[in-house]
Amino acid sequence: MEQPDRYSRQTIFQGIGPEGQRRLGEGCAVVVGCGALGTVVASALARAGVGHLRVIDRDFIEYHNLQRQLLYTESDIEENLPKAVAAERHLRAANSAIEVEGVVADFSPSNAERLVEGADVIVDGLDNFETRFLVNDVARKLGIPWVYGGAIGSSGMTATFLPRERPCFRCMVNRPPAGGTLTCDTAGVVNSAPWVVGSLEAAEAFKILLGTVPASRELVVFDLWQRSFQSLPLEGVVDVKCPACAGNYEFLEGTPRTRITSLCGQNAVQIWNLAAGPMRLSEIRERLSALGPVEGSEQMIRFPVGEQELVVFYDGRTIVRGTRDEVLAKALYAKYVGM
Ligand SMILES: [Zn+2]
Repeated sequence: MEQPDRYSRQTIFQGIGPEGQRRLGEGCAVVVGCGALGTVVASALARAGVGHLRVIDRDFIEYHNLQRQLLYTESDIEENLPKAVAAERHLRAANSAIEVEGVVADFSPSNAERLVEGADVIVDGLDNFETRFLVNDVARKLGIPWVYGGAIGSSGMTATFLPRERPCFRCMVNRPPAGGTLTCDTAGVVNSAPWVVGSLEAAEAFKILLGTVPASRELVVFDLWQRSFQSLPLEGVVDVKCPACAGNYEFLEGTPRTRITSLCGQNAVQIWNLAAGPMRLSEIRERLSALGPVEGSEQMIRFPVGEQELVVFYDGRTIVRGTRDEVLAKALYAKYVGM
C-alpha cells in the first residue's frame, strides 16, 4: 500500500530528495545470497523503496543463522522455509509498495545471466569466492555495477566495481586459494561485522541507483574488535593480465573450475576443485578441529556435519557423504572447506 509519508525521512535528506526517491522507485537491485549480509542489504533496499528487488539464495534457515541473519525468525525454521522464500515474505510485510521476488536457486554459470536480467545494481551477499568471480564476470559482461562485501570474525570489507572501469574484483583477488578459505562456519562471526558491511553495501547501491554521487573507488577494511577502519585506494590493484578485464569470462563461459558429480550407487556427491590443485589439508584440519572431531591421514580428512560427512582429499576432491543433493553438497563444501 502506498503511504504518502513512508519515505519522508529520506526525501528530506539532501542527498536523496523527491527526485532521488523517484529514481529509487524505478530502480532494480539483485541481491545474490541472503545470509547475514544479504538480509541487511535487502532490508535496507526494500524499506528505502527500491522498486524492484530480486533476492537469490540456495539455502534453508538453521538455528545458528538467527544470531546474525536479521530477516529470519524461529517460525521460518519450523516451517522449513528456504531463505529466499522467507526473505520475500518478510520484505513484502515491511514494504508492500515495491516488487519483491525471492528466487530459490544456486547462482551458477547456467542461470547467472538470466537471474541478473534487468538489474541496475548487483549486491553481494555471498559466502564464497568462486561465486563472486562468477558475479564479477556476469556484471562485466552485461555492464552492471556491483558491490562486493565480505565479513568474518569481527572484520569486514567492501568495494564497488563498475563495469567499464578497472580494477575489477578479479584484479583485486586473483585465484581462489588452494587451502580453502576461512568462512563464518569455521572461524565464527560477530553479528555486527556483517551488519556494518551490509549497511555500507546498501549505501553504495543507493548511490549507484541515484546516479548523482560517484561510487566509491576504495576498498574499505575494518575490524570491530580493534576499532580500526581503513579506506585503501583501488587504483593500485589493477592486474594487467586480468582475464575478466580483457573480456574473457572464464567463470561464466569457460570450462567449469569445479566438477560436481553424484557418485553412482552411493549416497554421496563429489566436488572437485580443478583450479585449486593439491589441498593444504593441515590448514583445513586445524580450522575444522575447532568445531568437532576430525579424523584422517596426510591424504584425506573426514569431518561429520549433521547427517552428512565431508571427506576432503589431498588432490582437491571432496566427497560429501549422506546426500545425493548436489546443491546441498556444494553449500556444505562452501561453508566448511571454503571455495
Ligand atoms: Zn580485472
